[in-house]
Amino acid sequence: MSSPATRMHAVTDETAQIVDLVLDFSRRRVLSSDTPLDKPVSPFELDRLAGRTIDEHGIGARRALALFEHVLAPACITTDHPQYLSFIPTAPTKAATAFDLVVSACAIYGGSWLEGAGAVHAENEVLSWLAREFGLPPAAGGVFVQGGTLGNLSALVAAREAARLALREMGAPAPDRWRVVCSAEAHSSIASAARVMDVEVVPVTPDPGGTLRGDAVRAALEQHGASVFAVVATAGSTNFGIVDDIASIATLKEEFDFWLHVDGAYGLTGMLSPLARERFAGVERADSLIVDPHKWLFAPFDACALIYRDPEAGRRAHTQHAEYLDTLTETSEWSPSDYAAHLTRRARGLPLWFSLATYGGGAYRAAISSSLQLAQDIAREIASREYLHLVREPQLSVVVFERDGWSRSEYAAWSARLLDEQRAFVTPSSHAGRPNTRFAIVNPMTTFEQLVGILDTMA
Ligand SMILES: *Cc1c(COP(=O)(O)O)cnc(C)c1O
Repeated sequence: MSSPATRMHAVTDETAQIVDLVLDFSRRRVLSSDTPLDKPVSPFELDRLAGRTIDEHGIGARRALALFEHVLAPACITTDHPQYLSFIPTAPTKAATAFDLVVSACAIYGGSWLEGAGAVHAENEVLSWLAREFGLPPAAGGVFVQGGTLGNLSALVAAREAARLALREMGAPAPDRWRVVCSAEAHSSIASAARVMDVEVVPVTPDPGGTLRGDAVRAALEQHGASVFAVVATAGSTNFGIVDDIASIATLKEEFDFWLHVDGAYGLTGMLSPLARERFAGVERADSLIVDPHKWLFAPFDACALIYRDPEAGRRAHTQHAEYLDTLTETSEWSPSDYAAHLTRRARGLPLWFSLATYGGGAYRAAISSSLQLAQDIAREIASREYLHLVREPQLSVVVFERDGWSRSEYAAWSARLLDEQRAFVTPSSHAGRPNTRFAIVNPMTTFEQLVGILDTMA
Protein backbone atom coordinates (compact mmCIF):
# COMPACT_ATOMS: atom_id res chain seq x y z
CA MET A 1 0.00 0.00 0.00
CA SER A 2 1.09 3.54 -0.54
CA SER A 3 0.09 6.99 0.61
CA PRO A 4 -0.03 10.09 -1.58
CA ALA A 5 3.54 10.82 -0.45
CA THR A 6 4.92 7.37 -1.34
CA ARG A 7 2.80 6.62 -4.42
CA MET A 8 5.66 7.31 -6.83
CA HIS A 9 8.33 5.45 -4.85
CA ALA A 10 6.70 2.42 -3.28
CA VAL A 11 6.73 -0.95 -5.04
CA THR A 12 3.09 -1.37 -6.07
CA ASP A 13 1.12 -2.73 -9.00
CA GLU A 14 1.11 0.78 -10.43
CA THR A 15 4.88 1.31 -10.27
CA ALA A 16 5.52 -2.25 -11.51
CA GLN A 17 3.34 -1.60 -14.56
CA ILE A 18 5.19 1.60 -15.33
CA VAL A 19 8.54 -0.19 -15.15
CA ASP A 20 7.25 -2.96 -17.43
CA LEU A 21 5.99 -0.44 -19.97
CA VAL A 22 9.32 1.34 -20.08
CA LEU A 23 11.38 -1.86 -20.27
CA ASP A 24 9.14 -3.27 -23.02
CA PHE A 25 9.58 -0.11 -25.04
CA SER A 26 13.35 -0.11 -24.48
CA ARG A 27 13.60 -3.74 -25.52
CA ARG A 28 11.69 -3.07 -28.74
CA ARG A 29 13.82 -0.04 -29.56
CA VAL A 30 17.18 -1.66 -28.85
CA LEU A 31 16.35 -4.80 -30.80
CA SER A 32 14.72 -3.05 -33.76
CA SER A 33 16.77 -2.99 -36.92
CA ASP A 34 14.40 -0.71 -38.82
CA THR A 35 14.04 2.36 -36.62
CA PRO A 36 13.75 5.15 -39.20
CA LEU A 37 16.25 8.02 -39.33
CA ASP A 38 13.53 10.48 -38.31
CA LYS A 39 13.98 14.24 -38.40
CA PRO A 40 13.41 17.44 -36.48
CA VAL A 41 9.96 18.99 -36.21
CA SER A 42 9.20 22.68 -35.69
CA PRO A 43 8.31 23.98 -32.21
CA PHE A 44 4.87 24.96 -33.56
CA GLU A 45 4.20 21.46 -34.87
CA LEU A 46 5.41 19.84 -31.64
CA ASP A 47 3.20 22.14 -29.61
CA ARG A 48 0.28 21.06 -31.72
CA LEU A 49 1.09 17.32 -31.68
CA ALA A 50 2.20 16.91 -28.09
CA GLY A 51 -0.16 19.37 -26.44
CA ARG A 52 0.18 20.04 -22.75
CA THR A 53 1.62 17.04 -20.93
CA ILE A 54 2.20 18.48 -17.48
CA ASP A 55 -0.67 19.40 -15.19
CA GLU A 56 -1.46 18.90 -11.50
CA HIS A 57 -2.72 15.34 -11.86
CA GLY A 58 -0.48 13.66 -14.42
CA ILE A 59 -1.54 12.06 -17.70
CA GLY A 60 -0.41 8.57 -16.70
CA ALA A 61 2.56 6.50 -17.91
CA ARG A 62 0.72 4.87 -20.78
CA ARG A 63 -0.20 8.19 -22.37
CA ALA A 64 3.14 9.80 -21.64
CA LEU A 65 5.05 6.90 -23.13
CA ALA A 66 2.78 6.75 -26.20
CA LEU A 67 3.38 10.43 -26.71
CA PHE A 68 7.11 9.86 -26.48
CA GLU A 69 7.02 6.92 -28.87
CA HIS A 70 4.78 8.50 -31.51
CA VAL A 71 5.49 12.22 -31.27
CA LEU A 72 8.71 13.07 -29.43
CA ALA A 73 11.06 10.22 -30.39
CA PRO A 74 10.27 10.57 -34.13
CA ALA A 75 11.33 14.21 -33.78
CA CYS A 76 14.81 13.08 -32.70
CA ILE A 77 17.24 11.89 -35.36
CA THR A 78 18.30 8.28 -34.82
CA THR A 79 21.98 8.89 -34.18
CA ASP A 80 22.91 5.21 -34.24
CA HIS A 81 21.33 4.67 -37.67
CA PRO A 82 23.83 3.21 -40.18
CA GLN A 83 23.04 6.04 -42.61
CA TYR A 84 23.63 8.76 -40.05
CA LEU A 85 26.94 9.98 -41.49
CA SER A 86 27.12 13.60 -40.30
CA PHE A 87 29.28 15.25 -37.64
CA ILE A 88 30.61 12.29 -35.66
CA PRO A 89 27.81 9.72 -35.20
CA THR A 90 27.45 7.19 -32.41
CA ALA A 91 27.09 3.41 -32.58
CA PRO A 92 26.68 1.85 -29.14
CA THR A 93 26.77 -1.94 -28.92
CA LYS A 94 23.56 -3.65 -27.84
CA ALA A 95 25.32 -4.78 -24.67
CA ALA A 96 26.46 -1.25 -23.81
CA THR A 97 23.04 0.26 -24.50
CA ALA A 98 21.26 -2.35 -22.42
CA PHE A 99 23.68 -1.96 -19.55
CA ASP A 100 23.04 1.77 -19.47
CA LEU A 101 19.62 0.84 -18.09
CA VAL A 102 21.35 -1.15 -15.34
CA VAL A 103 23.48 1.84 -14.35
CA SER A 104 20.25 3.79 -13.79
CA ALA A 105 18.48 0.90 -12.10
CA CYS A 106 21.23 0.62 -9.49
CA ALA A 107 21.30 4.36 -8.70
CA ILE A 108 25.07 4.27 -8.49
CA TYR A 109 26.93 7.36 -7.35
CA GLY A 110 30.10 7.41 -9.39
CA GLY A 111 31.89 10.31 -7.73
CA SER A 112 33.64 8.69 -4.79
CA TRP A 113 35.26 5.43 -3.79
CA LEU A 114 33.31 5.52 -0.52
CA GLU A 115 29.98 5.41 -2.35
CA GLY A 116 30.77 3.65 -5.63
CA ALA A 117 33.87 1.47 -5.11
CA GLY A 118 32.69 -1.40 -7.30
CA ALA A 119 31.70 0.83 -10.19
CA VAL A 120 34.87 2.90 -9.89
CA HIS A 121 36.96 -0.28 -9.90
CA ALA A 122 35.36 -1.42 -13.17
CA GLU A 123 35.65 2.02 -14.78
CA ASN A 124 39.30 2.16 -13.77
CA GLU A 125 39.97 -1.20 -15.35
CA VAL A 126 38.65 0.20 -18.65
CA LEU A 127 40.78 3.34 -18.28
CA SER A 128 43.87 1.19 -17.58
CA TRP A 129 43.13 -0.97 -20.58
CA LEU A 130 42.85 2.11 -22.79
CA ALA A 131 45.99 3.67 -21.28
CA ARG A 132 47.93 0.49 -22.08
CA GLU A 133 46.64 0.52 -25.66
CA PHE A 134 47.88 4.10 -26.00
CA GLY A 135 51.28 3.19 -24.58
CA LEU A 136 50.99 5.13 -21.31
CA PRO A 137 52.72 3.80 -18.16
CA PRO A 138 50.82 1.56 -15.69
CA ALA A 139 50.33 4.43 -13.21
CA ALA A 140 48.21 6.37 -15.74
CA GLY A 141 44.57 6.90 -14.85
CA GLY A 142 41.72 9.34 -14.89
CA VAL A 143 37.97 9.51 -15.12
CA PHE A 144 35.04 9.28 -17.51
CA VAL A 145 33.57 12.75 -17.95
CA GLN A 146 30.55 13.96 -19.90
CA GLY A 147 32.26 14.72 -23.20
CA GLY A 148 35.40 15.78 -25.00
CA THR A 149 34.75 19.44 -24.29
CA LEU A 150 34.85 18.89 -20.53
CA GLY A 151 37.72 16.41 -20.93
CA ASN A 152 39.86 18.94 -22.81
CA LEU A 153 39.01 21.69 -20.32
CA SER A 154 39.84 19.51 -17.31
CA ALA A 155 43.15 18.37 -18.83
CA LEU A 156 44.17 21.94 -19.67
CA VAL A 157 43.27 23.16 -16.18
CA ALA A 158 45.54 20.43 -14.76
CA ALA A 159 48.26 21.43 -17.21
CA ARG A 160 48.16 25.08 -16.15
CA GLU A 161 48.16 24.13 -12.50
CA ALA A 162 51.26 21.98 -13.06
CA ALA A 163 52.99 24.89 -14.84
CA ARG A 164 52.06 27.29 -12.02
CA LEU A 165 53.44 24.94 -9.38
CA ALA A 166 56.65 24.38 -11.32
CA LEU A 167 57.28 28.12 -11.63
CA ARG A 168 56.44 28.68 -7.95
CA GLU A 169 58.90 25.97 -6.93
CA MET A 170 61.62 27.65 -8.96
CA GLY A 171 60.73 31.00 -7.43
CA ALA A 172 60.01 32.34 -10.92
CA PRO A 173 57.16 34.78 -11.57
CA ALA A 174 54.03 33.62 -13.38
CA PRO A 175 53.67 34.98 -16.93
CA ASP A 176 51.27 37.87 -17.58
CA ARG A 177 49.30 35.68 -19.89
CA TRP A 178 49.15 31.87 -20.12
CA ARG A 179 49.09 30.35 -23.60
CA VAL A 180 48.09 27.07 -25.17
CA VAL A 181 49.47 26.05 -28.56
CA CYS A 182 47.38 23.97 -30.95
CA SER A 183 46.70 23.47 -34.64
CA ALA A 184 44.62 26.06 -36.45
CA GLU A 185 42.45 23.03 -37.30
CA ALA A 186 42.04 21.95 -33.66
CA HIS A 187 38.52 21.34 -32.35
CA SER A 188 36.45 24.34 -31.24
CA SER A 189 36.42 22.99 -27.66
CA ILE A 190 40.06 24.05 -27.24
CA ALA A 191 39.12 27.67 -27.89
CA SER A 192 36.14 27.19 -25.59
CA ALA A 193 38.39 25.88 -22.80
CA ALA A 194 40.74 28.80 -23.31
CA ARG A 195 37.84 31.26 -22.94
CA VAL A 196 36.69 29.60 -19.73
CA MET A 197 40.26 29.62 -18.36
CA ASP A 198 40.96 33.14 -19.65
CA VAL A 199 44.10 32.00 -21.46
CA GLU A 200 45.22 32.69 -25.01
CA VAL A 201 45.18 30.21 -27.88
CA VAL A 202 48.19 30.29 -30.20
CA PRO A 203 46.92 28.70 -33.41
CA VAL A 204 49.70 27.13 -35.48
CA THR A 205 49.30 26.54 -39.19
CA PRO A 206 49.44 22.84 -40.08
CA ASP A 207 51.13 21.58 -43.24
CA PRO A 208 49.12 21.65 -46.50
CA GLY A 209 47.78 18.18 -45.70
CA GLY A 210 46.34 19.47 -42.43
CA THR A 211 48.88 17.82 -40.12
CA LEU A 212 50.43 19.84 -37.30
CA ARG A 213 54.17 19.13 -37.12
CA GLY A 214 56.94 19.68 -34.61
CA ASP A 215 58.81 22.36 -36.57
CA ALA A 216 55.76 24.62 -36.67
CA VAL A 217 55.14 24.05 -32.96
CA ARG A 218 58.81 24.81 -32.23
CA ALA A 219 58.46 28.28 -33.73
CA ALA A 220 55.49 29.02 -31.45
CA LEU A 221 57.36 27.73 -28.39
CA GLU A 222 60.39 29.87 -29.22
CA GLN A 223 58.21 32.92 -29.67
CA HIS A 224 56.11 32.54 -26.52
CA GLY A 225 58.56 30.87 -24.12
CA ALA A 226 57.44 29.89 -20.63
CA SER A 227 53.99 31.41 -21.12
CA VAL A 228 53.04 28.23 -23.03
CA PHE A 229 51.70 25.78 -20.48
CA ALA A 230 50.39 23.19 -22.95
CA VAL A 231 50.52 22.00 -26.52
CA VAL A 232 47.47 20.20 -27.86
CA ALA A 233 47.94 17.64 -30.60
CA THR A 234 44.82 16.37 -32.35
CA ALA A 235 44.61 12.62 -32.89
CA GLY A 236 41.93 12.60 -35.56
CA SER A 237 40.51 16.01 -36.46
CA THR A 238 36.73 16.19 -36.45
CA ASN A 239 36.36 17.52 -39.98
CA PHE A 240 38.89 15.24 -41.72
CA GLY A 241 40.14 12.64 -39.26
CA ILE A 242 43.70 13.88 -39.61
CA VAL A 243 46.22 12.80 -36.98
CA ASP A 244 48.86 15.39 -36.11
CA ASP A 245 52.52 14.33 -36.18
CA ILE A 246 52.47 13.63 -32.47
CA ALA A 247 55.97 12.09 -32.32
CA SER A 248 57.67 15.22 -33.70
CA ILE A 249 55.69 17.41 -31.28
CA ALA A 250 56.50 15.12 -28.33
CA THR A 251 60.22 15.29 -29.17
CA LEU A 252 60.13 19.03 -28.37
CA LYS A 253 59.58 18.08 -24.72
CA GLU A 254 63.32 17.40 -24.58
CA GLU A 255 64.01 21.10 -25.17
CA PHE A 256 60.94 22.91 -23.88
CA ASP A 257 58.87 22.56 -20.76
CA PHE A 258 55.24 21.99 -21.71
CA TRP A 259 52.37 19.61 -21.05
CA LEU A 260 51.42 17.56 -24.07
CA HIS A 261 47.68 16.97 -24.32
CA VAL A 262 46.32 14.71 -27.05
CA ASP A 263 42.76 15.43 -28.14
CA GLY A 264 41.62 12.10 -29.54
CA ALA A 265 37.90 12.54 -28.86
CA TYR A 266 36.94 10.99 -32.17
CA GLY A 267 40.08 9.52 -33.68
CA LEU A 268 42.24 8.00 -30.96
CA THR A 269 40.00 4.95 -31.11
CA GLY A 270 41.70 4.23 -34.45
CA MET A 271 44.83 3.28 -32.50
CA LEU A 272 43.10 0.08 -31.41
CA SER A 273 43.18 -1.19 -35.00
CA PRO A 274 46.34 -2.55 -36.57
CA LEU A 275 45.22 -0.77 -39.77
CA ALA A 276 45.84 2.67 -38.24
CA ARG A 277 47.93 2.12 -35.12
CA GLU A 278 51.20 3.46 -36.51
CA ARG A 279 49.65 6.87 -37.31
CA PHE A 280 49.53 7.58 -33.58
CA ALA A 281 53.24 7.22 -32.76
CA GLY A 282 54.12 9.63 -29.95
CA VAL A 283 50.83 9.30 -28.03
CA GLU A 284 52.78 7.29 -25.45
CA ARG A 285 54.52 10.53 -24.44
CA ALA A 286 51.31 12.46 -23.73
CA ASP A 287 50.79 14.00 -20.29
CA SER A 288 47.06 13.67 -20.79
CA LEU A 289 44.69 12.49 -23.48
CA ILE A 290 41.00 12.08 -24.16
CA VAL A 291 38.93 9.71 -26.24
CA ASP A 292 35.11 9.71 -26.45
CA PRO A 293 33.57 6.25 -26.16
CA HIS A 294 30.29 7.84 -27.32
CA LYS A 295 31.87 8.51 -30.70
CA TRP A 296 33.78 5.55 -32.13
CA LEU A 297 34.10 3.27 -29.13
CA PHE A 298 30.56 1.99 -29.21
CA ALA A 299 29.24 3.35 -25.90
CA PRO A 300 26.04 5.35 -25.41
CA PHE A 301 26.01 9.10 -24.68
CA ASP A 302 27.65 10.55 -22.81
CA ALA A 303 31.20 9.43 -22.09
CA CYS A 304 34.70 10.81 -22.55
CA ALA A 305 37.68 8.96 -21.12
CA LEU A 306 40.16 11.50 -19.69
CA ILE A 307 43.51 9.92 -18.84
CA TYR A 308 46.49 11.52 -17.12
CA ARG A 309 50.00 10.18 -17.31
CA ASP A 310 50.37 11.26 -13.66
CA PRO A 311 46.87 11.23 -12.15
CA GLU A 312 48.13 13.17 -9.13
CA ALA A 313 48.45 16.23 -11.38
CA GLY A 314 44.74 15.95 -12.15
CA ARG A 315 43.86 15.49 -8.52
CA ARG A 316 45.88 18.51 -7.39
CA ALA A 317 44.06 20.70 -9.88
CA HIS A 318 40.52 19.47 -9.37
CA THR A 319 39.77 18.17 -5.86
CA GLN A 320 36.98 20.23 -4.31
CA HIS A 321 37.36 21.10 -0.65
CA ALA A 322 34.49 21.70 1.77
CA GLU A 323 33.80 20.69 5.35
CA TYR A 324 31.08 18.27 4.32
CA LEU A 325 33.48 16.63 1.84
CA ASP A 326 36.33 16.10 4.32
CA THR A 327 35.47 12.42 4.78
CA LEU A 328 36.09 11.98 1.06
CA THR A 329 39.10 14.21 0.50
CA GLU A 330 41.11 13.23 3.59
CA THR A 331 41.70 9.72 2.31
CA SER A 332 43.94 8.29 -0.37
CA GLU A 333 41.08 6.40 -1.99
CA TRP A 334 40.51 6.94 -5.70
CA SER A 335 37.52 9.24 -6.13
CA PRO A 336 36.65 10.03 -9.75
CA SER A 337 35.28 13.45 -8.77
CA ASP A 338 38.85 14.54 -8.00
CA TYR A 339 40.09 14.27 -11.58
CA ALA A 340 37.96 16.77 -13.52
CA ALA A 341 35.80 19.86 -13.15
CA HIS A 342 32.77 18.09 -11.69
CA LEU A 343 31.51 16.52 -8.46
CA THR A 344 28.34 14.43 -8.76
CA ARG A 345 28.74 11.99 -11.60
CA ARG A 346 27.01 9.08 -13.27
CA ALA A 347 29.18 5.95 -13.54
CA ARG A 348 29.10 6.54 -17.26
CA GLY A 349 32.06 4.27 -17.98
CA LEU A 350 30.09 1.18 -16.95
CA PRO A 351 28.25 0.53 -20.25
CA LEU A 352 31.64 0.38 -22.00
CA TRP A 353 33.03 -1.81 -19.21
CA PHE A 354 30.16 -4.30 -19.57
CA SER A 355 30.42 -4.52 -23.34
CA LEU A 356 34.23 -4.76 -23.28
CA ALA A 357 34.10 -7.43 -20.58
CA THR A 358 31.45 -9.32 -22.55
CA TYR A 359 33.18 -9.36 -25.93
CA GLY A 360 36.86 -8.62 -25.25
CA GLY A 361 39.11 -6.21 -27.09
CA GLY A 362 39.29 -8.31 -30.27
CA ALA A 363 35.66 -7.63 -31.16
CA TYR A 364 36.34 -3.91 -30.79
CA ARG A 365 39.39 -4.08 -33.04
CA ALA A 366 37.36 -5.89 -35.72
CA ALA A 367 34.54 -3.34 -35.58
CA ILE A 368 36.92 -0.36 -35.72
CA SER A 369 38.90 -1.90 -38.57
CA SER A 370 35.71 -2.37 -40.59
CA SER A 371 35.07 1.40 -40.59
CA LEU A 372 38.69 2.15 -41.52
CA GLN A 373 38.45 -0.30 -44.41
CA LEU A 374 35.08 1.03 -45.56
CA ALA A 375 36.48 4.58 -45.62
CA GLN A 376 39.30 3.43 -47.90
CA ASP A 377 36.89 1.54 -50.17
CA ILE A 378 34.41 4.38 -50.57
CA ALA A 379 37.25 6.88 -51.09
CA ARG A 380 38.44 4.81 -54.03
CA GLU A 381 34.88 4.73 -55.39
CA ILE A 382 34.58 8.53 -55.04
CA ALA A 383 37.91 9.08 -56.79
CA SER A 384 36.73 6.90 -59.66
CA ARG A 385 33.57 8.95 -60.35
CA GLU A 386 34.06 11.85 -62.73
CA TYR A 387 31.61 14.21 -61.00
CA LEU A 388 33.21 13.73 -57.56
CA HIS A 389 36.61 14.24 -56.05
CA LEU A 390 38.21 13.73 -52.66
CA VAL A 391 39.23 16.86 -50.78
CA ARG A 392 41.88 14.85 -48.93
CA GLU A 393 42.76 11.17 -48.73
CA PRO A 394 41.09 9.75 -45.62
CA GLN A 395 43.43 8.78 -42.78
CA LEU A 396 40.80 7.33 -40.47
CA SER A 397 37.05 6.92 -41.09
CA VAL A 398 36.01 10.38 -42.30
CA VAL A 399 35.80 10.87 -46.06
CA VAL A 400 35.45 14.46 -47.35
CA PHE A 401 34.55 15.05 -50.98
CA GLU A 402 33.19 17.59 -53.44
CA ARG A 403 30.56 17.33 -56.14
CA ASP A 404 32.02 19.30 -59.07
CA GLY A 405 30.07 22.44 -59.83
CA TRP A 406 27.84 22.42 -56.75
CA SER A 407 27.32 25.57 -54.72
CA ARG A 408 26.47 25.68 -51.04
CA SER A 409 22.77 25.82 -51.79
CA GLU A 410 22.93 22.74 -54.02
CA TYR A 411 24.60 20.73 -51.24
CA ALA A 412 21.97 22.02 -48.82
CA ALA A 413 19.04 21.08 -51.06
CA TRP A 414 20.51 17.63 -51.73
CA SER A 415 21.15 17.02 -48.03
CA ALA A 416 17.62 18.12 -47.07
CA ARG A 417 16.16 15.81 -49.71
CA LEU A 418 18.13 12.81 -48.41
CA LEU A 419 16.78 13.38 -44.92
CA ASP A 420 13.27 14.12 -46.17
CA GLU A 421 13.23 10.83 -48.03
CA GLN A 422 14.69 9.16 -44.92
CA ARG A 423 17.59 7.83 -46.99
CA ALA A 424 20.51 9.27 -45.11
CA PHE A 425 21.68 12.07 -42.85
CA VAL A 426 24.63 13.66 -44.63
CA THR A 427 25.14 17.38 -44.04
CA PRO A 428 27.07 19.93 -46.09
CA SER A 429 30.45 21.01 -44.77
CA SER A 430 33.22 23.23 -46.12
CA HIS A 431 36.97 23.56 -46.25
CA ALA A 432 39.04 26.65 -47.05
CA GLY A 433 35.88 28.44 -48.16
CA ARG A 434 34.77 25.68 -50.57
CA PRO A 435 31.59 23.72 -49.89
CA ASN A 436 31.80 19.94 -49.64
CA THR A 437 30.20 17.05 -47.85
CA ARG A 438 31.53 14.18 -45.81
CA PHE A 439 30.86 10.66 -44.64
CA ALA A 440 31.80 10.12 -40.98
CA ILE A 441 31.75 6.35 -40.56
CA VAL A 442 31.73 4.78 -37.09
CA ASN A 443 28.91 2.28 -37.39
CA PRO A 444 29.94 -1.28 -38.32
CA MET A 445 26.44 -1.74 -39.80
CA THR A 446 27.11 0.88 -42.49
CA THR A 447 27.75 -0.86 -45.82
CA PHE A 448 29.60 -0.02 -49.02
CA GLU A 449 26.37 -0.49 -50.99
CA GLN A 450 24.50 2.04 -48.82
CA LEU A 451 27.23 4.63 -49.39
CA VAL A 452 27.31 3.95 -53.13
CA GLY A 453 23.55 4.51 -53.15
CA ILE A 454 24.12 7.96 -51.66
CA LEU A 455 26.82 8.80 -54.24
CA ASP A 456 24.37 7.85 -56.99
CA THR A 457 21.99 10.58 -55.79
CA MET A 458 24.68 13.18 -56.58
CA ALA A 459 25.14 12.27 -60.25
C1 LIG B 1 33.87 15.76 -30.72
C2 LIG B 1 35.20 16.33 -30.44
C3 LIG B 1 35.42 17.08 -29.28
C4 LIG B 1 34.32 17.46 -28.34
O1 LIG B 1 33.77 16.33 -27.74
P1 LIG B 1 32.28 16.37 -27.12
O2 LIG B 1 32.14 15.01 -26.56
O3 LIG B 1 31.36 16.66 -28.27
O4 LIG B 1 32.27 17.46 -26.11
C5 LIG B 1 36.71 17.53 -29.04
N1 LIG B 1 37.71 17.25 -29.89
C6 LIG B 1 37.54 16.54 -31.02
C7 LIG B 1 38.70 16.26 -31.90
C8 LIG B 1 36.27 16.05 -31.33
O5 LIG B 1 36.09 15.34 -32.45
